[in-house]
Amino acid sequence: MMDSKKTKLIENKFRILKPDSLLCNFVTKIRKLFLFCSFSCFFCCRCWKICSIFAIEMQQFYSSQLLERAVSEFSRLPGVGRKTALRFVLYLLRQRMEDVESFVSAVSSLRRDIKHCRICHNICDTDVCAVCSDNSRDTSKVCVVENIQDVMAIENTQQYHGLYHVLGGVISPVDGVSPGDLEIESLIDRVKVGGIDEIIFALSGTMEGDTTVFYISRRLSGLNVRITVIARGISVGGELEYTDELTLGRSILNRIPLGE
Ligand SMILES: [Zn+2]
Repeated sequence: MMDSKKTKLIENKFRILKPDSLLCNFVTKIRKLFLFCSFSCFFCCRCWKICSIFAIEMQQFYSSQLLERAVSEFSRLPGVGRKTALRFVLYLLRQRMEDVESFVSAVSSLRRDIKHCRICHNICDTDVCAVCSDNSRDTSKVCVVENIQDVMAIENTQQYHGLYHVLGGVISPVDGVSPGDLEIESLIDRVKVGGIDEIIFALSGTMEGDTTVFYISRRLSGLNVRITVIARGISVGGELEYTDELTLGRSILNRIPLGE
């Protein structure tokens, strides 16, 4: 990303040069060399990483099959490699038996006893989650999010006091996720029941996120509900020159009066 930006800067600086001039040819050669070096460096780094992973897998020796099995199970977790998994396992081996049993019990009961709120599909311990059963919340607003991490992120801002609706993902034909796989029908049913004035979409600013917003907003048309989307723009503390063109363009289009 940075390489293409740098290349563009060089191009802009030397645009005034005549195409056949000596200096222009020299700049072109330097540019080609620069691109070749960055590509080679990128390839080598990737290659080295892949080779080292294979080397670790091949050389790993386990003195116990139980140890190997535990490492294999831990390494199935997202973002955990076999080295990290081995560190986790060795840590557990150093703990007291009661602590390890408490750890195992917490994980197994999590999978067995966890529930999804029958209204908003957030994760909870009862049939209805703490947000939906909170009488002090503004029940006329529903914020539509992709997953429960988004609920937690918005709750941490302490700026929103309405309800939520967790879709469980976004529409993505490439990944085989269709509208039928998401909690869209239950959202339509909630709006049809009445009492909801505004649906706030807080989905990722990706093509899949935009597709999902478009699809649901079409389904909600005619149901007398206000549809809004969270603002997208420059992050707090972000510098203008490093902001991508799409975000900057959206920020200008969605500008707000000073003081709001
Ligand atoms: Zn709920």
